[in-house]
Amino acid sequence: MRHVVILGATGSIGVSTLSVLAEHPDKFSVLALTANNNVELLYQQCLMVRPAFAAMQDAIAAKQLAQRLQAAGINTEVLSGAEGLIALASHPQADIVMAAIVGAAGLLPTLAAVEQGKTVLLANKEALVMTGELFMQKVATHGARLLPIDSEHNAIFQCLPAHLQQQCYKADLSAQGIARLLLTGSGGPFLQRPLDSFKQISVAEAVAHPNWNMGQKISVDSATMMNKGLEFIEARWLFNCPAAAIQVVIHPQSIIHSMVQYTDGSVLAQLGQPDMRTPIAHALAYPERISSPVAALDFFNLPAFSFSAPEPERYPNLYLAIAACSAGQGATTALNAANEVAVAAFLAQQLSFTGIHRVNESCLNRFLGYHAQSLDDILALDAEARAFAKQQLRVLS
Ligand code: NAD
Ligand code: MG
Repeated sequence: MRHVVILGATGSIGVSTLSVLAEHPDKFSVLALTANNNVELLYQQCLMVRPAFAAMQDAIAAKQLAQRLQAAGINTEVLSGAEGLIALASHPQADIVMAAIVGAAGLLPTLAAVEQGKTVLLANKEALVMTGELFMQKVATHGARLLPIDSEHNAIFQCLPAHLQQQCYKADLSAQGIARLLLTGSGGPFLQRPLDSFKQISVAEAVAHPNWNMGQKISVDSATMMNKGLEFIEARWLFNCPAAAIQVVIHPQSIIHSMVQYTDGSVLAQLGQPDMRTPIAHALAYPERISSPVAALDFFNLPAFSFSAPEPERYPNLYLAIAACSAGQGATTALNAANEVAVAAFLAQQLSFTGIHRVNESCLNRFLGYHAQSLDDILALDAEARAFAKQQLRVLS
């Protein structure tokens, strides 16, 4: 029996994780669930899985949850605040930590799990983009097992030779005959939309992803393709891969989840439904396999596959992220911070869709040469970049 902690249990990935775990009560037990402030859903989830612990970032929400659980006669212990989340992420009884908080808020709890040498299932790509080398050094130092949940990285992981899977972070890909990582992306909802109408894109249009059902922030990132940019940086660190050996390929059907191209001409791909419960099941059971509730692929009823290059005018955010990746850690930390501010402003209808790129670009230009190595430096730069991006919001609106 392996004990699982889900950080971000009420989100899209958290709910999918619970759905896979529900099929395997003999293999996994849920030790703890955490969320930001969604009391109702976390309460329902606690009723279902009866975890020993729960935590809410928001203190008032935590109090309400504790009262409701007590009234229902459920003895889940409720913690609160960042300390509560960190305590559960690093709990001595936890074997597997699903890191599925969105954005920088997930960084410290995720690092806490890494520092305890847990098996960390990484969905929270922003944490890795923010801290890159530092994050991977901690994985190595503390002997944590890092398994990618992001479907592209999970696909690449599955297409690597087994001995490389054991220590991706120090893999020498070219010495293993690997020429390139091919990162696929659907192109999002605006693949065909006329460019001159991008200014009028509404929130409802941007979050309506054609293939994937996800949280709001990653849905907007998929529409701008900043998501693929963050994934580019994520792949650079997860697989110790030089930026020059990562290529983004648009594949609107989202059936191939990414590929590895070998120097002998072979290309290995991982295919599946666009349903996160497949990579989640893979990582939960790794190196074994367990069933998931995802329907089998039916090759006689699939759309024809197509592939194209991402147009720079359509997806300028992708190219900002690729530039940041080559510039170094300060640039990626600042770009991630700016993007979180810009996307939140867009979702609050305070910034246009095209404004997201303008905020991100000005912030990247401002912090391009910055270096940040220690956690304190990174957190300080993150705060500085957020403040700058908020200033830019005022200038641009
Ligand atoms: P979501 O918005 O649906 O859920 C986010 C979760 O994080 C919620 O449980 C929320 O309570 C929690 N949370 C938010 N802010 C918090 C805070 N300040 N403190 C503590 N908890 C907080 O997001 P999601 O779509 O599930 O995505 C989660 C992460 O997984 C993101 O980093 C995303 O990029 C990544 N990811 C998601 C998908 C997907 O299909 N949804 C795919 C690949 C990667
Ligand atoms: Mg992805």
